[in-house]
Amino acid sequence: MSDLHTLSVTALAESLRSKQVSAVEVATRFLARTGGNPHNAFLDIDSEVTLTQARACDAKIAAGTAGPLEGVPVAHKDVFVTRDFATTAGSKILQGYRSPFDATVVQRLREAGMVTLGKLNCDEFAMGSANENSAYGAVTNPWDMAHVPGGSSGGSAAAVAARLVPAATGTDTGGSIRQPASFCGITGIKPTYGRASRYGMIAYASSLDQAGPMARSAEDCALLLSAMCGPDLDRDSTSLDRPAEDFSAGLNGSLDGLRIGIPKEFFGEGLHADVRAAVDSALREYEKLGAKLVPISLPRTELSIPVYYIIAPAEASSNLSRFDGVKFGHRAKDYVDLVDMYKKTRAEGFGNEVKRRIMTGAYVLSHGYYDAYYLQAQKIRRMIADDFQNAFKECDVIAGPVAPSVAWKLGENANDPVADYLADIFTLPASLAGLPGMSLPAGFGAHGMPVGMQLIGNYFQEAQLLNAAHRLQQATDFHLQKPVGV
Ligand code: GLN
Repeated sequence: MSDLHTLSVTALAESLRSKQVSAVEVATRFLARTGGNPHNAFLDIDSEVTLTQARACDAKIAAGTAGPLEGVPVAHKDVFVTRDFATTAGSKILQGYRSPFDATVVQRLREAGMVTLGKLNCDEFAMGSANENSAYGAVTNPWDMAHVPGGSSGGSAAAVAARLVPAATGTDTGGSIRQPASFCGITGIKPTYGRASRYGMIAYASSLDQAGPMARSAEDCALLLSAMCGPDLDRDSTSLDRPAEDFSAGLNGSLDGLRIGIPKEFFGEGLHADVRAAVDSALREYEKLGAKLVPISLPRTELSIPVYYIIAPAEASSNLSRFDGVKFGHRAKDYVDLVDMYKKTRAEGFGNEVKRRIMTGAYVLSHGYYDAYYLQAQKIRRMIADDFQNAFKECDVIAGPVAPSVAWKLGENANDPVADYLADIFTLPASLAGLPGMSLPAGFGAHGMPVGMQLIGNYFQEAQLLNAAHRLQQATDFHLQKPVGV
C-alpha cells in the first residue's frame, strides 16, 4: 500500500484488523518517514522499541486478541513520561532522563494496541505558543517552513500535518492542543479537566493541565479519546470518577436545531480579517446543516489573559521546584555547597521563558502580593467559569476562532513574550473554566496558512463537540487538505 502514511487512524485500524497490512509494515513505513527528522518534530525515536511493539501487535491480531487500535502508530508529546524513550519536556534540565514508568495516557493507548513511534518536540515544560521555547530547537510548520507550528504541542501538530504519524498526544493548559492544531490544519480536542489522567504528565499548571488527542479528523480523535480517558483515582486525585465513553458511537447525530453560541468578544477588534472570514464561512456551513447561530457574551474574555498568566506561573513555580539537580536530570558540575548546586543547576538547566515564569509565579504568591494577584486571579477565574454557565443557558456549544491570526513567522515574536501571551486570548477562557474545547480546520488565511475554528462545550460534552466537528468534516473538505509534498 503506497498511500499507507496518508490513511486515517480509522482506515489504518481497519486495514490492520483485516490483515491487509501488518503492524510491522505500518511501523516501518512511518519510521522511514521520520528519517532526517523533518520539521524537527521528534525528540526521540528508537526503531527497535517501535518494531518490537509492532511485532507484538501482529501476534495479537493473528491470535484474535487485538485491541481497537492495534498496530496504529502514535507519538507522544515529550511531557508524557515513557519507560522506553527519553523524556525531556523540551528542557535541558531533563536531557537524557528516563522514567521508570509510563504515563497513564501512554499506557492506555498501548493497551488499546497503539505502537509508540517516538517522542515529540514541544515548548519547554509546555510553556509557549510557538514551539520556539524548546531547548532542542524550533519546529517548523509543514505548510510553510518559515512559519511556527504553534505551541506548546508544536511537534505533535507538525508531525500529524506532515503525515509522519497518523495521530499524536498533546497537552493543553491554556491552548496547547487547540492552537497548534489550528496553526497546522489538523484536529485536536482538550477534554473536560479531569477526564484524562495527569499521572506521568510532567506538571506545568496542575489545575489546568489536560491531555488530549491530535489527529486529522474528529472521527480519529474520538477513537483516541475513548482509549485515553477514564478514572485513575489512585494515581491522579483530580481524575474524574466517570467511565470512559465510546466517543465514536455518537458521531452521527443530527445538528438540526443545535444552538451554536457566538461570543461577541471572540469577534472583536483583535481578530484578523482572514481568520474571521474563514470562521464565518465554516459557521455558514453549520447553518446549512441545520444549526442556529445565537449571539452570546463572555464578558471577561479579555481578563483571561492576566488571570491565566498569574495562575499558571504560580503553579509552575511550585511544580518546577522539584528540578533541583538532586533527583532528576541535569546537575551542575562545579559547586561549593548544596544551595550553590541548586542555583547553578537551575540557572544552567532552565531556559529564559521558564525562568521568567518561575519568577513571576514566586512573586504573585509571595507574602504581601498574594491577595492582590493570586487570590484576585482565582476569584476572576470563578467568574469566567460562571460566565460560561450563563452562556450555556442559551446555547449548546460555543464557536469562534482558536487564535486571532494564522501561524506567524519563526522569530517574529521571539523577543516579545507578551505578544505570544495575547495571542492565547480565545483558548484561555475554556482552560480556566475546565471546559472541553476543540480545534478543527476551517480553511486558509494569510500566506495560505490554515485557520482553525474552536468549539467549546459544557462539562462532559465531548461527544457533542466531536459529533458537531465530525458532521462539518463530512460536509466539507478543509481537514483533507494537505501541505505540498506530503
Ligand atoms: N501558550 C500558553 C502558555 O504559554 C499555553 C500553553 C499550554 O497550554 N501548555 O502557557
